[in-house]
Amino acid sequence: MAKELVVEKVNFSYGQRSIIQDVSFQVKAGEMLGIIGPNGSGKTTLLKIITRLLVPERGRILIDGQDTASWSLRTLARTMAVVPQETQINFEFSVRDIVEMGRSPYLRRFQAMSNQDREIVEKAMEATNVLSLAERPMTELSGGERQRVIVARALAQEPQVLLLDEPTASLDINHEVEIFQLLRRLTSQKGLITIVVLHDLDLAAEYCDQLLLLAQGKVIADGSAEEVLQAETLASVYGVDVVVYPNPLTGKPQVQVLVPGRH
Ligand code: ADP
Repeated sequence: MAKELVVEKVNFSYGQRSIIQDVSFQVKAGEMLGIIGPNGSGKTTLLKIITRLLVPERGRILIDGQDTASWSLRTLARTMAVVPQETQINFEFSVRDIVEMGRSPYLRRFQAMSNQDREIVEKAMEATNVLSLAERPMTELSGGERQRVIVARALAQEPQVLLLDEPTASLDINHEVEIFQLLRRLTSQKGLITIVVLHDLDLAAEYCDQLLLLAQGKVIADGSAEEVLQAETLASVYGVDVVVYPNPLTGKPQVQVLVPGRH
């Protein structure tokens, strides 16, 4: 398993517009990094650079010291799995069909799955608690169930790096917590390098080992939730007054927006 992912001085522009500027950070196996920041700060762009959907103008992505720019797409797909915000599935695929797609980086064209592949698919469904849904069509599932299936597909890829772009954006709070608990557990148990873009600062503080705060394509802060979620920093980045106080149950920082005239 990979021990470390390093993003080194990455720069990216769309045309003349600089979107990512000199972004550097690192994540170790078994740890979950949360990328936070206002809309348009470059979070999704950064994920796309890590997965090589976009090529940086300068800078490198290193996994255990190896520059991923020279890797084949197959090697990349065996190393990294992505869980997008929402997945459009228009055909009547069953849950099992979808999770089996995670094995494709390991199969040649038209090659059938081996027993070992089937076992990996089974385990991925078990870990995400979707085994009982295996034969159900995806179109009949709730948002939370669907997202667990997409995480199962990512696990079937046997990744070392797991990247998620607002994986709970369309979910209720109970499903949101369920997904984050699952990610937390999988990251520790499997020693994954997990990077998740998320909006909710309280969730980020509860579940991530490390936070990266982006604004206008630059790293504003990087470190523990306590280090990154400082009231002054958040006020300047988000343009609202906030108070930060420890969650009475967990001790993690919690952010409260102060509404003018009400507080
Ligand atoms: P975030 O995920 O933090 O909301 P994005 O990475 O999606 O931010 O976007 C960063 C900036 O890049 C935004 O200003 C956005 O308008 C711009 N952008 C995103 N995609 C494109 C594109 N395909 N072409 C031009 N500009 C884009």
